[in-house]
Amino acid sequence: MKRYSAFAVAREALNYHMGWERAWASPEPKKKYDVIIIGAGGHGLATAYYLGKNFGITNVAVIEKGWLGGGNTGRNTTIIRSNYLQDASAAIYEKARSLYETMSQDLNYNVMFSPRGVIMLAQTEHEVRGYQRTAHANALQGVKTEFISPARVKEIVPIINLSGPRYPVLGGLWQARGGTARHDAVAWGYARACSDMGMHIIQKCEVTGVRQEGGKVVGVDTSRGPIDCDKLGMVVAGNAGHVAGMAGFRLPVESVALQALVSEPIKPCMDCVVMANTVHGYMSQSDKGEMVIGGGTDGFNNYTQRGSFHHAEETVRALIETFPMIARLKMLRQWGGIVDVTGDRSPIIGKAPVEGIFINCGWGTGGFKAIPGSGWGFAELMAKGYSPLTAEFGLDRFHQGRFIDESVAAGVAH
Ligand SMILES: Cc1cc2nc3c(=O)[nH]c(=O)nc-3n(C[C@H](O)[C@H](O)[C@H](O)COP(=O)(O)OP(=O)(O)OC[C@H]3O[C@@H](n4cnc5c(N)ncnc54)[C@H](O)[C@@H]3O)c2cc1C
Repeated sequence: MKRYSAFAVAREALNYHMGWERAWASPEPKKKYDVIIIGAGGHGLATAYYLGKNFGITNVAVIEKGWLGGGNTGRNTTIIRSNYLQDASAAIYEKARSLYETMSQDLNYNVMFSPRGVIMLAQTEHEVRGYQRTAHANALQGVKTEFISPARVKEIVPIINLSGPRYPVLGGLWQARGGTARHDAVAWGYARACSDMGMHIIQKCEVTGVRQEGGKVVGVDTSRGPIDCDKLGMVVAGNAGHVAGMAGFRLPVESVALQALVSEPIKPCMDCVVMANTVHGYMSQSDKGEMVIGGGTDGFNNYTQRGSFHHAEETVRALIETFPMIARLKMLRQWGGIVDVTGDRSPIIGKAPVEGIFINCGWGTGGFKAIPGSGWGFAELMAKGYSPLTAEFGLDRFHQGRFIDESVAAGVAH
């Protein structure tokens, strides 16, 4: 694969841009792979990438029923942060955040990581106490965050209204190296690097069954025929319950639609990410100038990958109190994705009850930020049978009552 560089852009400019190679191949499926990953979202692709890069396992297929990055990875609002409460969460999210810092260089693909800073507003006394506690926990975990005053919030976000009638801003949890990245580019960058290592990314191929012999996985049935494997990774987010059902086990997850919307583009007015969890809304400004706005999940389980009018209205109405200027914006478009939510708001990463099957799901409303850390740990788990990064997140924690409660950090927004 030819490397992307300033020199390559200049060379191609002289060549009328006719010499660029396809970023990834579209091969026919082989009869058998060492590892099959179901789901070409960010987590599936990152897993494949680190299997190759860290463990030299490249006889890998990533099987995707739609197009790569077309699930939640291409539908999210791209917030990256690692200010979680529990040690196990802080470790995996901070690993991910630090990998984002160098991802463009590592993948030779510009993922537009922008560490512009993230504020989680405290708008009730309860939130003040909750976020102060998180800031103390983060200090012990080596994650750089601080609890800041309303005056400092105003300094960072001049367009904010501190004295909302229902929920005045009482402070905020600030992570200066949190931010955003281009979501599609993350999927594309990993896909290109995987393809370069000889892995097969097989799009428009739905897994319809999981084949087992003597309690061990031996392959999958797909819309393009059966494919054998020694190990199987299920990384299908909102479809996790459905795909686990094919292998004969159940997961403690609920699938719900999570929605977002963007405004018309305007001049730069906010250069960080602001999350207002009490009113269920958060906002950042894209490089194109659009205000990217996310809300909460639907109040009922569903597989509806689209937006709804009442959600847009509810989210914008809530945010107007804190950001009165958005009342004058026109909304351009809205959409939804199906997220997989666990009871303790932490992911499930571990061995499945069937030998050879590994499961990575339950990232709920906030898994984009975790993609590189999750891929790193899950690849280690699949290659070696154990990863310190993922050890706490196994399915057995629900039997043992060993929850990793992140409802303050992840309950509503991202
Ligand atoms: C509106 C919205 C906003 C969000 N905002 C943020 C945010 O700001 N920050 C953040 O960190 N997270 C956010 N998230 C969450 C984040 O997007 C997800 O946690 C993350 O993208 C999950 O990635 P994934 O690779 O696990 O899943 P996905 O990207 O959904 O990939 C799973 C893939 O599996 C495929 N698949 C499913 N079933 C099959 C099958 N049977 N056969 C083959 N393929 C199959 C699907 O087609 C899909 O492409 C948001 C989500 C939404 C919907």
